[in-house]
Amino acid sequence: MKIGFIGLGNMGGPMAANLVAAGHAVTGYDITGLGPDGVTMAADAPAAAAGAQVVITMLPNGAILRQVAAEVIAAMAPGSVLLDCSTVDVASARAVAAKAASAGLGALDAPVSGGVGGAQAGTLTFMVGGPDDAFAMAAPLFAVMGQKAVHCGAAGNGQAAKICNNMILGATMIATCEAFALADKLGLDRQAMFDVVSTSSGQSWSMTSYCPAPGIGPKSPADNDYQPGFAADLMLKDLRLSQDAAEGVDADTPMGQLAATLYARFVEEEGGKGRDFSAMLPRFEKRGRSKP
Ligand code: NAD
Repeated sequence: MKIGFIGLGNMGGPMAANLVAAGHAVTGYDITGLGPDGVTMAADAPAAAAGAQVVITMLPNGAILRQVAAEVIAAMAPGSVLLDCSTVDVASARAVAAKAASAGLGALDAPVSGGVGGAQAGTLTFMVGGPDDAFAMAAPLFAVMGQKAVHCGAAGNGQAAKICNNMILGATMIATCEAFALADKLGLDRQAMFDVVSTSSGQSWSMTSYCPAPGIGPKSPADNDYQPGFAADLMLKDLRLSQDAAEGVDADTPMGQLAATLYARFVEEEGGKGRDFSAMLPRFEKRGRSKP
């Protein structure tokens, strides 16, 4: 397939490289001018999009997506598909999809989970919103870049699934970390705590697959001095998106709201920027009982 790829950073770079390795012709654009080997770099975003059957974007936020989409939609041929894999607000995803549809394009919002490791290994999970025919056209690309693509419904539903998932993740990581810190103070050995919880009703992905306690459970960022992994800053971004969305539809999400507040404090005031999101455990270790 002829593919345009805009935003070749930590995630987009390896995703584009995997498409090249699978035999697709990828023309890329990034404001840094940098892209992986095998990607033909274009002078600007419309040049990367021109003539492509699918244009993929992997950008930092909704404002940048709206700006890039406005440029590339005009350059895309009717019937081609604009596939945004960035994590952005639901409103931006829906606005871009509507603009693309009115230009005769298919549009999909397809944020991912799996992080940089998943992007490199081609094992991402895609959560996809948009029409069936566009989903069918992008399916072979999802198969190259990921291991699973779930069609979640209409435009914006991929972003909705992503922020709901990560709202659960943020809250369960905090709950897991505060429970380890409590267990420490109660004299409960961390390995024993893991052995019980990982096979009991308190278990979650945060405990069993990404244990925040160093030396316990499978290898995780905790075993690498909390180098990300999934940075606390990105978790904060996703939690804020969840709270913006909740505000927009009048949904009551007190756990998500508190998780957003705690990650904001951690990232902006407590040195958590650039650390893995599981570094909430050393944060709790140092603290005594206080109001949240
Ligand atoms: P990144 O900052 O490494 O990459 C973004 C790229 O977009 C950069 O290379 C930047 O130069 C480029 N860019 C910015 N503005 C541009 C423009 N106007 N035109 C062209 N290129 C532009 O970020 P990332 O980690 O690759 O994340 C990308 C998206 O994926 C984000 O929305 C993020 O929330 C999401 N995401 C990241 C992870 C992760 O673990 N890194 C996991 C899941 C989802």
